[in-house]
Amino acid sequence: MRRAVCPGSFDPVTNGHLDIIARASRLYDVVHVAVMINKSKQGLFGVDERIALIEEVTADLDNVVVESFHGLLVDFCKQRDIPAIVKGLRAVSDFDYELQMAQMNIGLSGVETLFVPTNPAYSFLSSSLVKEVAQWGGDISHLVPGPVLEALNSRLRQR
Ligand code: ADP
Repeated sequence: MRRAVCPGSFDPVTNGHLDIIARASRLYDVVHVAVMINKSKQGLFGVDERIALIEEVTADLDNVVVESFHGLLVDFCKQRDIPAIVKGLRAVSDFDYELQMAQMNIGLSGVETLFVPTNPAYSFLSSSLVKEVAQWGGDISHLVPGPVLEALNSRLRQR
């Protein structure tokens, strides 16, 4: 079984994430989506909510498994026998940090990182930008899947 992981915060999952996950799912037998638990940074959605949303919007991809992790991503990989991390590269601005991470991860454990060029339609897209625009009533319906749009609107109304 060829396995890969798509890691991230996914607070919440966007069409940009989904594009990378779907493309990885066509290249690998099993794709683990790993939702990072960051105890020092409270998100708009809890980790369980983020997982439920990703599961809902990837329901048509039957080789995608969604899990949480904390600690080192390479340990998550080692425990599950995952040799590859798949990441989307949006712009040159992503590159410095991603290169550092990739080199650290291969040095730590031999886990490779594969970069997938972002679909140009989503190259400006991030979860934080989506949240910011939604907060001020901007239309983000073309940037996130339907269930995420609903969850965002109802969460922001509660605030
Ligand atoms: P963000 O808050 O910037 O969306 P995440 O940590 O949730 O960040 O993103 C996890 C990973 O998903 C990123 O490292 C990147 O590989 C990928 N990703 C995020 N946004 C996009 C996008 N718009 N297009 C392609 N890949 C993306």
